[in-house]
Amino acid sequence: MKALTFEGVRIVRHTDVPDPRIQDPQDVLVRVELTAICGSDLHVYHGRERGLDPGTVMGHEFVGSVVETGRAVRSLACGNRVLSPFTTSCGRCFFCRDGLTARCVDGQLFGWVENGQGLHGGQAECVRVPMAESTLVRVPEGVSLDSALLLGDVLSTGYHCALQAGVGRGGTYAVVGCGPVGLMAVVAALELGAERVFAVDRVAERLSLAERFGAIAIDYEASNAGELVREATDGRGADAALEAVGTAAAHRSALELVRHGGTISVVGVHNEEQFSFSPAELYDRNLTYRVGRCPARHLIPRLIPLVRSTRHDLAAILTHRLPLEQGPAGYGTFDAKHDGCVKIALTP
Ligand code: NAD
Ligand code: ZN
Repeated sequence: MKALTFEGVRIVRHTDVPDPRIQDPQDVLVRVELTAICGSDLHVYHGRERGLDPGTVMGHEFVGSVVETGRAVRSLACGNRVLSPFTTSCGRCFFCRDGLTARCVDGQLFGWVENGQGLHGGQAECVRVPMAESTLVRVPEGVSLDSALLLGDVLSTGYHCALQAGVGRGGTYAVVGCGPVGLMAVVAALELGAERVFAVDRVAERLSLAERFGAIAIDYEASNAGELVREATDGRGADAALEAVGTAAAHRSALELVRHGGTISVVGVHNEEQFSFSPAELYDRNLTYRVGRCPARHLIPRLIPLVRSTRHDLAAILTHRLPLEQGPAGYGTFDAKHDGCVKIALTP
């Protein structure tokens, strides 16, 4: 089959790879109908995150149809349309039962093969899904393929970021980074009852989408975001800062935007060796720092009603649609944010 493979720093190839096959009775094979490139793929692409074997099929965001089931699979059948969280989960271990499906004891991340061990990704014609019954979710009636794709990662991650920030009724929040994840964090914070959400980035198209989703946009190159947020909050700062970037500068910006006693909620993936602030900087302002991978499988059932009821066109973030074979160029466009690109959907 055809797939996008990682071949080295900034080298993604559209190439032939062996067809996936059922390896365990709980596996299913999914024929991919729609897949996407994520900001997380860029960490690998740039070599910031290391360890991936060359030849690994990239990607962890996909939706499609079941084409083959392992002999232990009962609740899924060929032809079922399914969406997938970006990690697999057993649904039974301590962490799964506790809602932390991202840390399932047997869980794996799609698109991560290291020293021959791991799971190939979804930027392909077909993908093998282990522990399929507890990982996959049937796409319900009335949920579009686009929404199903966003549910698997960026919408659930944005929502997780807002929950982790403690967003409740009322309050002022600041989202750092208006990529797909930050934009979904804007939507989530407002859905959870935030009174005001500031959204910080420097890319015009992304800031205007943040406005369209209800945020007050701040171009951090054109103005001082900290000052603007403090002016709006009697000099205090935001009740929480939601960081969806994954750099030291974004970390520092979150620290600058949050009020004393507030929360810094981080979903950006950080690859620096050191923390960008000291323990005393948190202590001296009574801050809470929360971070981690989104338990997408746990959140998806809760978010299905949201994608049905929201007045927003969440799929507006899918600014570019390309056939899978143009995926390598798509990585370049998404990375450079050329041509107003916010997120790229690929069709095998
Ligand atoms: P993206 O690269 O498209 O978006 C990042 C955005 O941050 C860009 O719009 C960029 O202009 C902006 N930015 C850069 N520096 C900034 C700064 N100092 N202040 C404000 N904005 C700044 O990526 P994405 O797909 O939206 O993903 C965002 C992050 O979330 C990535 O680090 C990704 O790995 C991570 N992520 C985490 C999880 C999780 O489970 N925790 C899941 C998905 C993605
Ligand atoms: Zn992703």
